[in-house]
Amino acid sequence: MKKRQFKAESKRLLDLMINSIYTHREIFLREIISNASDAIDKLAYTALTDEQVGLSREDFAITITCDPESRTITVSDNGIGMNKDEMVENLGTIAKSGSLGFKQGLENAEDIDIIGQFGVGFYSAFMVASSVTVISRRYGEDTAWKWVSDGADGYTIEEAERAYPGTDIIMTLKPDTEEDDFSVYLEETEIRGLIKKYSDYIRYPIRMEVTKHRKAESGDAVETYTEVETLNSMVPIWQRAKKDVTAEEYDTFYREKFFDYAKPLKVIHFGVEGSVSFKALLYIPGKAPYDFYTKDFKPGLQLYSSGVMIMENCEDLLPEHFRFVRGIVDSQDLSLNISREMLQHDRQLTIIARSIEKKIRSELASLLENDREGYETFYTAFGRLLKYGTVSDYGAHKTVCQDLLLFFSHKEGKPVTLKEYVAAMPEGQEKIYYVSGENKDRLAKLPQVQTLSAKGYDVLLFTDDVDEFIPQTLMTYEEKGFCNAATEDLGLQTEEEKQALQSKSEEMKGMLTFVKEALGEQVKDVRLSTDLGSHAACLTPEAGMSFEMEKYMKRMNPEFAISVGRILELNPEHDAVKALLATMTTDPLKAKDYAQLLMYQALLMADLPIEDPTAYAELICKLMV
Ligand code: ADP
Repeated sequence: MKKRQFKAESKRLLDLMINSIYTHREIFLREIISNASDAIDKLAYTALTDEQVGLSREDFAITITCDPESRTITVSDNGIGMNKDEMVENLGTIAKSGSLGFKQGLENAEDIDIIGQFGVGFYSAFMVASSVTVISRRYGEDTAWKWVSDGADGYTIEEAERAYPGTDIIMTLKPDTEEDDFSVYLEETEIRGLIKKYSDYIRYPIRMEVTKHRKAESGDAVETYTEVETLNSMVPIWQRAKKDVTAEEYDTFYREKFFDYAKPLKVIHFGVEGSVSFKALLYIPGKAPYDFYTKDFKPGLQLYSSGVMIMENCEDLLPEHFRFVRGIVDSQDLSLNISREMLQHDRQLTIIARSIEKKIRSELASLLENDREGYETFYTAFGRLLKYGTVSDYGAHKTVCQDLLLFFSHKEGKPVTLKEYVAAMPEGQEKIYYVSGENKDRLAKLPQVQTLSAKGYDVLLFTDDVDEFIPQTLMTYEEKGFCNAATEDLGLQTEEEKQALQSKSEEMKGMLTFVKEALGEQVKDVRLSTDLGSHAACLTPEAGMSFEMEKYMKRMNPEFAISVGRILELNPEHDAVKALLATMTTDPLKAKDYAQLLMYQALLMADLPIEDPTAYAELICKLMV
């Protein structure tokens, strides 16, 4: 028999695919089963109006048969079938309308994965089979046809026998090699696993004859027998009505599907009908998986198209700041075959992703409102992501994230939201105050924090590296500006007080110059301040910078370490400062030592290193003697 050739373009693609190093070849089964399911859909639809079909919903099934002797795996269905013309048309051309996108995918080796995830339909059989035989009889016709191909060489087609309408796809597996084990597809456990993984929710039963063991009726002997078993569960949990699913079912499904031994913190099950319809079952885990903050963690949602899994980790469905969410999205509006609808996928995925982001946000907001403890548990595990989300992409996601943030309130002694902070601001308070450092207790003792507390103003204590970037990104919250209490003007003084401070500074100019000269390189400037409460001196950074940033940069990469200019602030009302002033005239050398001592203290309070601790210790002793 003369071999028919594949259409020119198809042949090239087939070559490419068969020869590409394929990591996802197991998806061939999913592809073949999904075609069988589609074919049954068509006949089942016909059966609704055509009594001649003679089959009801329960009669439809897909059957898998493995035969180690002939090295074949066969997938049979009793669907609509194909006639000769349809075989030529459907199986003789790869990826008809979408060949462009498909080809682009193949030509770029790195994109090979994408095929594994979306599939290329029938031809994926050639990834595991050296030869594929299709025997099919179209519903309404008496003749069956047999199509045989061993890959790129083309195919033959001839008349055949088949008792009922439907299709058998018979795949003769390639010989095993050192690297490739094709024989696994003859094993019951492998097939069982693949069906569970990819085709569990196909709407028709997928049956296979399986081997079982039982105790013989007499004696202790174990006998082996075979039984036809349905391998798929058919109705996905996310397709069921919410009211029909128990909390336990949700939890069990989560644990089995996402390999977590703890219960999820929250289950989000919803559906959307619209230009793109979909069902989603999402989970917020109770804690971060051990590899969550490493590159091994694969974020994304499982993507299904009408019950068939097409992608295990679809990252495009989740924004970075919600990457902790696990779950499943199922949409009948997504085609299985990216080859045909690659471009549309992008658009549809974007629509789905947007509505998922909105939903997660509102669910988190309601958790925050109704279950504070639960929310704080969640926040301990994943709060950092929300912070990064706030500052990333120049604040593009800040409206999504800002109300989900928590910061430790000095006044309340617990985490609060920005909304709560602003709502609790007493009259007269104009700014949102914060200080940042490594340790809350230490921050609480800063003179500025004490000054603010004395006025009844709350201060947020930032202890995470990323915290300090948040005010810079938000700029304002509910029209209130942010103020770094340790570095910026607290804005507490009246005009008169400012005037008073200025004239005091004029008056004490001599001392300020003296201290500055005494400290030399160690300071950028020396000033008076009335914000220091009971403290004599304190360090503030030069404008626009902070000591926390200096420490952060140093930790991240010492090469790019920056040095933030130190400004020493002195409290003119403090006895130690008064003592310095008095000593300046009587004993300038001693006054110099006093200045240095105040500088050391200020460094310690700011949690900054003292370059020469020995000099510090010696100075103290000297003054004591
Ligand atoms: P897709 O399924 O995405 O259309 P395939 O390459 O998998 O692409 O299949 C091409 C076509 O071959 C199908 O659209 C269908 O018309 C036909 N086909 C494949 N398998 C079967 C089957 N089991 N029964 C009937 N028709 C089939």
